[in-house]
Amino acid sequence: MRAEEICTHYGEDPSRFHGAVNVPLFQTSLFVDCEGNESGREGRYAYTRVSNPTTEIVEKKVAALEQGEAARCFSSGMGAISAAMMHYLKRDSHVVAVASIYAPARRFLWEYMARFGVTVTFVRGTDLDEIEAAICDRTELIYLESPSTYLFLVQDLEKIAEIAKKHQVATVIDNTYATPIFQKPLTKGIDMVVHSASKYLGGHSDIVGGVVIGRKEDVTQVAKDERELFGAVMSPFDSWLMLRGIRTLPVRMRQHMENAMEMASYFQALPIIKEVIYPYWNTHPQYELAKRQMTGASGLMSVVFDLPGDQIYKILRELEFFSRGPSWGGYESLISAVGAGLDRDSETMKKGLVRLHIGLEGADLLKEDFDRAVKHVLG
Ligand SMILES: *Cc1c(COP(=O)(O)O)cnc(C)c1O
Repeated sequence: MRAEEICTHYGEDPSRFHGAVNVPLFQTSLFVDCEGNESGREGRYAYTRVSNPTTEIVEKKVAALEQGEAARCFSSGMGAISAAMMHYLKRDSHVVAVASIYAPARRFLWEYMARFGVTVTFVRGTDLDEIEAAICDRTELIYLESPSTYLFLVQDLEKIAEIAKKHQVATVIDNTYATPIFQKPLTKGIDMVVHSASKYLGGHSDIVGGVVIGRKEDVTQVAKDERELFGAVMSPFDSWLMLRGIRTLPVRMRQHMENAMEMASYFQALPIIKEVIYPYWNTHPQYELAKRQMTGASGLMSVVFDLPGDQIYKILRELEFFSRGPSWGGYESLISAVGAGLDRDSETMKKGLVRLHIGLEGADLLKEDFDRAVKHVLG
């Protein structure tokens, strides 16, 4: 099934809801016993922490987009990520994780799970031998994020899934960057996909949410244990907004990519920019791999400035259409000077790195904005 069909019609049945063309918002905590919803009956609704008709339709669509058997929505990306990790971990487990993953996911594994004896080996993720060498007897999980946060390092999903199967280790990937429009990790042998729906799936910077997608058996267990017990369930209203976001996901992703490619080309030619970091840009060290396992790249990229930090901050403050802020995935352009204040590179960051989200304002407007800001500061 094509993504366009899934995002528009799949999983919906207006005859269930008086012919309503849009999925109604079931803003209710409780579902009582009545004709058609008798207790004990299969498919019956009881309580929104367990299931809700609005949320279920979103879950069906996301599962189909990822070509997974089942999905469950959470109240945030971190709710989904921590639930997926807890599903595979027990006391004293060991995890192999990519170093440049989303920072709170890293902190959850490294700091929080340490109280249950969980240990982590962080790897760059670009070297298969390094990953295999990190696996030990206690390893239960390989945690990936490809392309990774800020540096957009790409992991070879098929090869890593093979290594994991050989050692009977589970694999989970954060697919927030690419979305299922551009990357379907389950089809490459990865066991479970997690998303922050606060980014592209929502797409309008108006919800905080998350999703877990995978085999029915795993996802049902996550719903029954981690989601029901920790309680980080998506609210019906957020599900309804997420559904609205998903309707235009394929169109938005194509446009984000088109704008981002144009901006990458613009930055490449700008003398104050040392490096453009974008998986679909031909200077990316894993450009070939990115092209092979993804069908596109999103609106998120980094550029490395060849300027002192204070000059970088000055330019960013002059921008009119790039708001300064940490999130991304909405309609709007954003900029985050995460590496501007550093005096050297680290494992997860480069000196002078600025992350940009290329929104839907149109590349011409954004280029003019940058030209104006650079001219104002540097003359
Ligand atoms: C934002 C983000 C998350 C966390 O999502 P929340 O919805 O804010 O909890 C996880 N992974 C990546 C890659 C993100 O960008």
